[in-house]
Amino acid sequence: MDLFKPMDSNAPKEASKGAGMPEEHVKVLILGSGPAGYTAAIYAARANLSPVVYEGIQPGGQLTTTTEIDNFPGYPQGITGNEMMEDLKKQAMRFGTEVRFGLATATDLSQSPFRVTIDEEKVIVADALIIATGATAKYLGLETEEKFKGQGVSACATCDGFFYRGQDVAVVGGGDTACEEATYLSGICRKVYLIVRKPYLRASKAMQDRVFSTPNIEVLFEHVTQEIKGDMSGVNGMVLVNGKGEKVNFDITGFFVAIGHHPNSDIFKPYLDTDEVGYIKTVPGTTKTNVPGVFACGDVQDPHYRQAITAAGSGCMAAIDAERYLGERKF
Ligand code: NDP
Repeated sequence: MDLFKPMDSNAPKEASKGAGMPEEHVKVLILGSGPAGYTAAIYAARANLSPVVYEGIQPGGQLTTTTEIDNFPGYPQGITGNEMMEDLKKQAMRFGTEVRFGLATATDLSQSPFRVTIDEEKVIVADALIIATGATAKYLGLETEEKFKGQGVSACATCDGFFYRGQDVAVVGGGDTACEEATYLSGICRKVYLIVRKPYLRASKAMQDRVFSTPNIEVLFEHVTQEIKGDMSGVNGMVLVNGKGEKVNFDITGFFVAIGHHPNSDIFKPYLDTDEVGYIKTVPGTTKTNVPGVFACGDVQDPHYRQAITAAGSGCMAAIDAERYLGERKF
């Protein structure tokens, strides 16, 4: 799911003029409402910077699509993603953060203060900008995958798994996400096929062990999805190609894609340096981008760790970096 809507390559400068749109000035604008965005908001609010957070299309970010979080320090019994994000939001609001529903649709970062168009209807003019827009799930790119999106094809087992109780489903991918999704679905569904294009899993040893010890998960190594089959009522099968080049058919009703993520940086690309995948580049050890006054934190700038705790840590850094930037320039 896109957190922030990308624009076509020629649009940013045009749209960013925001001709005729109402404007509002804020000191610190934070885009994104995952652990990075809310942690930045908590720190910025406590520094009296009156931050405004725009939540994006998926309020609470990716954690709201997971079930239990067992690896965030401070929760010995674990916590659900939704609960944690609600708590973070309340904590940010307690110190005066204004949290708004809305989507950043264009930017003009060519000069300070920065201009960010929200929902193509108003412009926020910000002295400092913190980008915490996260990353979005990738899809395989098959025509039939697109056709059945929302009708059997999903990128979020914890969101949609419930609909496939007692049925046979497939998960594609060989990383931690795929293993986690397959394990989650194994508790709901009758059978889970895990489709892995290589002869091994990329996931951590612990995740692999969970998959291999779950009786109703069958790992299909060296299999590639060729087609998802279905009719008016949704998905009813898939065609895979095995390592010998043979086509194999399976009856399934749910097809879950778990092959990684795309950083939500498209609207910033005309101004900010990114790597080849699109992750925003920051000065090592800081959240500073190549534009002074614009900071990036969380998954949108992190191709390596991508954890809630690292996102939260970098959100804290972004708020401190923004506070220093504003202090030095006496905004
Ligand atoms: P990864 O990039 O780690 O893995 C993506 C997987 O999808 C790989 O196995 C890759 O195959 C496969 N893949 C990619 N493209 C295709 C394709 N077109 N067709 C078939 N397969 C494809 O992404 P994840 O989302 O799994 O994990 C991202 C990061 O988040 C990792 O660092 C991970 O450790 C972390 N994470 C941690 C969790 C935890 O600790 N609880 C839970 C979930 C994620 P190949 O191996 O061949 O490249």
